[in-house]
Amino acid sequence: MNQSEYLKLLRLVRTAIEEYKNWDEDELVIDKSMQRTKIEQKEITKLNTNIKNDDQKLTKQGPIQMKKNINQEPIKNIQTKNAEQKLDDLKERIIGCKKCDLGKYRLNAVCGSGNPYADIMFIGEGPGFQEDHEGKPFIGRAGDLLTKIIEAMGFTRDTVYIANIVKCHPMKNPENPELKGNDRPPTMEEMQICQPYLDEQIKIISPKVIITLGASSTRALLKTDDVISSLRGKFTEYMGIPLMPTYHPAALLRNPKLKKDVWQDMKKVMALVNRKG
Ligand code: SF4
Repeated sequence: MNQSEYLKLLRLVRTAIEEYKNWDEDELVIDKSMQRTKIEQKEITKLNTNIKNDDQKLTKQGPIQMKKNINQEPIKNIQTKNAEQKLDDLKERIIGCKKCDLGKYRLNAVCGSGNPYADIMFIGEGPGFQEDHEGKPFIGRAGDLLTKIIEAMGFTRDTVYIANIVKCHPMKNPENPELKGNDRPPTMEEMQICQPYLDEQIKIISPKVIITLGASSTRALLKTDDVISSLRGKFTEYMGIPLMPTYHPAALLRNPKLKKDVWQDMKKVMALVNRKG
């Protein structure tokens, strides 16, 4: 990355932080208890100050000094390339996968999206109609609500990673992918067949915390039949990583009273991420 690209990136990050600071709680439709804690606000202020300092330093520096800065970060650059490359390779394999029947009828395999080095990884059950059509996870109304939850936590969709247990759209009537209301949860068998891809994603990203959204993904990872209302809010572990089960955003759209519980769960996640530094 050259100096002007780096400055542009810094300005983009700073603008995003400013927008976040001006964020209006009432626009979020999320429970009003979803407010930034003092710790989060302190972190944002610290990050903003660091960016300003870096920006000033870079403006003063000439191209030769800039080259020095680039040379000082070889490990970070190599790591980024490795993780991105690994996720790209995995994506190629998923796109070509027909290991279960879901692969025969899907329009797009939906691999996942976000930061290959994310601290937090959200895992849902599978793509729905819109995700199948656009090839991205969690879009539409439930996706918008997830975005708001992520932003209320002080992150963006680009700083976390979002994936599903199954990468192809489970349909009630697979012969007609254009039919609306055709979504269904994946079966346990479909999840078991596809899960190795998710495990690879988790291994590559190595997040500090996993958040499972809804009963299907929680049950599949934890190998339990318990109901989500009894599993949510309690940390457990998957592949040695703390896992917090919570409700699926679609459940919050059906029953807004659950938002409060989700926010309680997210506060525990934020505390853990802050503790792990
Ligand atoms: S759901 Fe998973 S296992 Fe089944 S075809 Fe799609 S990528 Fe392959």
